Amino acid sequence: MPRPVPRDQATALRLKWDGEPRRPQPDEHLWPASAWEDCRAAGVFRWVVPPEAGGDGQPADQLLDGCIELARADLTVAFILSQYQAACHRLAAGHPGPRRYLPQLASGEGFTTVGLSHLTTSRQYSTQPAVLAEPTARGYRLTGSIPWVTGGRRATVLILGATLGDGWQFLAAVPAGRPGLSVAASMSLLALNGSETGPVELDGVEISEEEIIAGPQPQVLQTGGTAGTGSLTTTALALGHALACVDQLRKEASLRPALLDFVGTFETDVDSLRHTVLQASRGLAGPEDTAESLRARATSLALNASQAVMTASKGAGFVTGHPASRLAREALFFLVWSCPQAVATQLLRGFSQCEE
Ligand SMILES: Cc1cc2nc3c(=O)[nH]c(=O)nc-3n(C[C@H](O)[C@H](O)[C@H](O)COP(=O)(O)OP(=O)(O)OC[C@H]3O[C@@H](n4cnc5c(N)ncnc54)[C@H](O)[C@@H]3O)c2cc1C
Repeated sequence: MPRPVPRDQATALRLKWDGEPRRPQPDEHLWPASAWEDCRAAGVFRWVVPPEAGGDGQPADQLLDGCIELARADLTVAFILSQYQAACHRLAAGHPGPRRYLPQLASGEGFTTVGLSHLTTSRQYSTQPAVLAEPTARGYRLTGSIPWVTGGRRATVLILGATLGDGWQFLAAVPAGRPGLSVAASMSLLALNGSETGPVELDGVEISEEEIIAGPQPQVLQTGGTAGTGSLTTTALALGHALACVDQLRKEASLRPALLDFVGTFETDVDSLRHTVLQASRGLAGPEDTAESLRARATSLALNASQAVMTASKGAGFVTGHPASRLAREALFFLVWSCPQAVATQLLRGFSQCEE
């Protein structure tokens, strides 16, 4: 059977969800259970899982194109999926033991997510590791707090990072029910509350050597998997959000044709950046198009497009429940999520017009 095309699958979901009556505003605070089930039924969970583990093993460019279209349809769903995909990438690229989880993840029987940011972007100013690993006879004992985990309460297995006393790090696949592991209440966020993001606490959690995915080694996230901080996946989501804003701007333009020029300009910019991002995923990007510069450009585009929607929607857009209000809040997410210092610096330069 030919391999399905993620962009087509995601477009079909977008058209299905657009066709449904507008969901009331409170739904953005709830886990998107029905959209998630639609993704399972459409085979979206298989995109990232290798064929030998029951997935479709989609190539990187197809995968990104699908993620762009899914973020255009529903950013919360696409964001949860990105954390699931990051976990699956790590499992697929790691030691054989934990790979046994992949078939049940591909079929949607299980769910996985990551708690890794404390190894790269979160808490970097602290001298103490967020999660300390102490060697035991069978493996390691983990103690600490992971600040950000999306969908932790829904996970059957969590992909977590830990640091040894000597600074070496490892990744482990830890089943959700393991004694000592508790998922704290979700945080109240400016947007994307439906992602149920919050801390995970580890109080002497015992893991075995067989549960290690990668490491121990220095900077374990620099090897294996493709979805690191500021990766092309995060850029794809920002681009998808920019497209969602353009869709909304076009709706406004159907009533006021004077807006059509702006729609056209944003469309050209998004199409061009989409092309460059897909080329980058094929290893064909120009020297200027580093992952960091693409992420910074996509973030700016999402922010600008969301503000264009707000401007065009006027006061009505500022009222809670209007799509412009949600799109504007969601665009701010890209300023903080998986945003490495180099990207943050580029964005700050743009905001302040401060020369290098
Ligand atoms: C909605 C959402 C969901 C996420 N989901 C996940 C997930 O599922 N898995 C995952 O691994 N990651 C996740 N992340 C984390 C993300 O990838 C980033 O790591 C995170 O957003 C970085 O922000 P931080 O507040 O942790 O940064 P930090 O650098 O820890 O900053 C925290 C606070 O410390 C202050 N601070 C910064 N530097 C210093 C300093 N030098 N001295 C003193 N104070 C300082 C800052 O002002 C800030 O207020 C998520 C993030 C968000 C926003």
